[in-house]
Amino acid sequence: MLLMKDIIQEGNPILRKRAVDVTVPLSEVDFRTIKKMMEYVKNSQDPEKVEKYGLRPSVGIAAPQIGIPKKMFCMHTTDERGEYLYSYAIVNPKIISSSEEKTYLPGGEGCLSVDEEKNGLVPRAQRIKAKAFLIDLDNGEASEVLLKLSSYPGIVFQHEYDHLQGILFIDKVKESLPDLKPVIFTEEVPQTE
Ligand code: ZN
Repeated sequence: MLLMKDIIQEGNPILRKRAVDVTVPLSEVDFRTIKKMMEYVKNSQDPEKVEKYGLRPSVGIAAPQIGIPKKMFCMHTTDERGEYLYSYAIVNPKIISSSEEKTYLPGGEGCLSVDEEKNGLVPRAQRIKAKAFLIDLDNGEASEVLLKLSSYPGIVFQHEYDHLQGILFIDKVKESLPDLKPVIFTEEVPQTE
């Protein structure tokens, strides 16, 4: 299983590389990797495992964060109302449209690869459409989908997608975003990616 020691930190050049496409169907190695990534995210939302293994809570992780510059990431979170689960193992995503309207997380973003507390707000598209392959973690099957995401799950997607371009949220931080409406959480949802 992945532990904090397996997650590379800001300053490591791999985090600044553009990730490369993954071959679909997935190789055995890539399938094992993406399964481990999802396992980390789920473990990191389990208070007992967080305590036992010293994990940082997260809602997503991208392959470059474990030193593999390939276009793969996992996200596992509910929306800001705690209503729907967005649990995706994603390969070769491409955002094909982003709304003009922007939003942001009122508490700012966090990242498993950024240790310091970084204050500030990150403007993100309120809605995105993306093409991607979703991987079935039981059998490795890949299916091509068009995802439409908004608000919190959309922000998580954009944060992870940025990792595949070598971009970290700290590159985009603003002191304030007075013209934008933040995501309003009505449910407590973990917020580190
Ligand atoms: Zn991150």
